[in-house]
Amino acid sequence: MALIVQKYGGSSLASPEKIKAIAERIVERYDSGDRLVIVVSATGDTTNRLRSKAFDLDDNPDHRELDMLVSIGERESISLMSIAINSIKPGLAQSFTGSQIGLITDCNHQNARILEIKGDRLKQSIEENHIPIIAGFQGVSTNKEITTLGRGGSDTTAVAVTAALNADHCEIYSDVDGVHTTDPKLVPDAKLIQELNYDTMLEISSAGAKILKDSAIEYAKRLNIKISTGHSTTGYIGTIVSNDILNKNKYTALTYNDKLSYEIFESKSLFSTDFSKIKLLQSYENKQIKITENKQNGSEPCYSLTIIGNGIKTDSELLNKMYDTIAKNSDIVATELSDLKFSIYLKQPLGQAEIEAIHSLFF
Ligand code: ASP
Ligand code: MG
Repeated sequence: MALIVQKYGGSSLASPEKIKAIAERIVERYDSGDRLVIVVSATGDTTNRLRSKAFDLDDNPDHRELDMLVSIGERESISLMSIAINSIKPGLAQSFTGSQIGLITDCNHQNARILEIKGDRLKQSIEENHIPIIAGFQGVSTNKEITTLGRGGSDTTAVAVTAALNADHCEIYSDVDGVHTTDPKLVPDAKLIQELNYDTMLEISSAGAKILKDSAIEYAKRLNIKISTGHSTTGYIGTIVSNDILNKNKYTALTYNDKLSYEIFESKSLFSTDFSKIKLLQSYENKQIKITENKQNGSEPCYSLTIIGNGIKTDSELLNKMYDTIAKNSDIVATELSDLKFSIYLKQPLGQAEIEAIHSLFF
């Protein structure tokens, strides 16, 4: 009998039919003898909808109140999933908020860090043969305030719960089979990557892939927790992320990020800024460029394409080809090269055909 932590993402819970199908699979797995703990995120685009209600009222909503608001989304999911499971086996599922399981965070609203999971009620629920259904993405701070863990934070909840319970597996399910050489919704030809090590996965996530949250991978790496990612409706596990895997391929993945912005800076004025999630690059005119994750006052939208792999620096021929293909149609803001990746930052978005063409250079 194994103890398994499973996490289901928002798009796989987007309709009553999808929730029912997942509930059936959970009950089947339970009946086969495994003990389960389920983490869910908010259904469909609930978090975005809740956020936009706040931004309709204020351009810069209070972060404490924003946490209170967006945490509703996961609360809706835990009760709906429990209702669906209990309609099959009455009394089997029990829903819990982040604070009910004692998920304690620091006081950084909107981007809180997990400090510990007390987990007493969680353990009791498992011992009593229930399936606990936990609200991902949320916790309670050392100041007893509701906090959230940053966008995509339910993945981090799942990894942290796996560690706290010393569970056997952490399975993260979404609406794709696993990690691909690029987003399969953008490039149907993208290939599944069966195994990845933490560092490469971290590069892929940090470059904008939404499949696994970067802080969840950092956590998993630190605590040596193997993550399996798979498809929520079929249960197929496509990718394993762990430590023992060597990356054999020179190129692993191509990632496109359309959620960035950039600002040109005089280097002096940078010292007072918040450096979290900020990259500083040099432009061709030798100015400093600041890249941030979300639109800030005075910044311009920016798009990035990143190729991730092993010893990338030594393969200038393909990197030049990638550069030339992009430079033909777009204005390049900056480039960034390391052993593990090459990124190009652009002023205009790339079309699907261009991303497909660049993907086919490498894969
Ligand atoms: N619902 C939250 C979000 O949309 C957390 C998550 O999906 O993991 O960011
Ligand atoms: Mg996610």
